[in-house]
Amino acid sequence: MEAVLSVENLKVVFNTYAGKVQAVNDVSFTLGKGEVLGIVGESGCGKSVTASSLMGLIPSPPGEIAGGRIMFKGKDIAKMAEKELRSIRGNDISMIFQDPMTSLNPVLTVGLQLGETFMLHQKMSKKQALAKAVDMLRLVGIPAPESRISQYPHQMSGGMRQRVMIAMALACNPKVLIADEPTTALDVTIQAQIMDLMKNLNRQLATSIILITHDLGVVAGICHRVMVMYAGKIVEMAPLKELYANPQHPYTWSLLRSVPRLDVKKSCLESIAGQPPDLLAPPPGCAFMPRCRFAMEICKQPPELAAIGPAHTCRCWLVNESSPYTPASLFKEG
Ligand code: SF4
Ligand code: MG
Repeated sequence: MEAVLSVENLKVVFNTYAGKVQAVNDVSFTLGKGEVLGIVGESGCGKSVTASSLMGLIPSPPGEIAGGRIMFKGKDIAKMAEKELRSIRGNDISMIFQDPMTSLNPVLTVGLQLGETFMLHQKMSKKQALAKAVDMLRLVGIPAPESRISQYPHQMSGGMRQRVMIAMALACNPKVLIADEPTTALDVTIQAQIMDLMKNLNRQLATSIILITHDLGVVAGICHRVMVMYAGKIVEMAPLKELYANPQHPYTWSLLRSVPRLDVKKSCLESIAGQPPDLLAPPPGCAFMPRCRFAMEICKQPPELAAIGPAHTCRCWLVNESSPYTPASLFKEG
């Protein structure tokens, strides 16, 4: 698959009074054309920071891209000046956030906010821009869009506002759409509708999507590939079906156990005991060790990300040949 974006050994640190926080540590991945990539992990695992880096949105100071490259159209986003970044944001790479109310302007009608984008970037007249706004609202499944463009954000439901945000993000026909927990603030039915919408848009427009979530259930319906992050690092990455059928990292197992599944009978869902490590002073070995039921002596040394199959990588000593366990059997037993 042709790559639209490639991230190589990305490192992001935040300089705080207490010391350096390694928010993203040696993360590498590519995003294919038309691909939907899920980035999954608990809050603080580095998934949002990774996404912000792609948009050149790391607040500096205190944040800093301390290493690596983010290659897009032959150029390194990590090295771009603000002016160049601004021409990429919205046009080539755009982002939708968790809470549409904080990203929409409360004193502008939906039509004008959306239309502004077309007037600014595509030099349309106001009339043309409003007509285009109506088209976009129709594209994202808003009924009677002609009557909606004169409404203010507060006159719409949460689900409708998120649709408007998606319409705005898609306005300039970006190559890459980054969605950071886009449905967390919405109820389950609306969540499913928004996910369906993103899936359809991906198919219709071939926009590549990075979907960031803490919920492996959300990625199941839409993602082609999933990257699991823990404590700033990738711990497992695989095509969706492979990850579900053959998860290899104990952290992935925990995430899967906390998701309701139709194909597995279970009386209760588990939550993951313990807390992610303090990134100011991460454990010297495997970062998951304090929470891992399978921790071994060797886990005091940091495991490398190892290829364990075509397109499947995992960072865990269990998948190392010298380990006494076979991971898949442990997962089924436990
Ligand atoms: Fe658990 Fe060790 Fe694997 Fe870390 S490396 S996840 S501690 S088994
Ligand atoms: Mg986040």
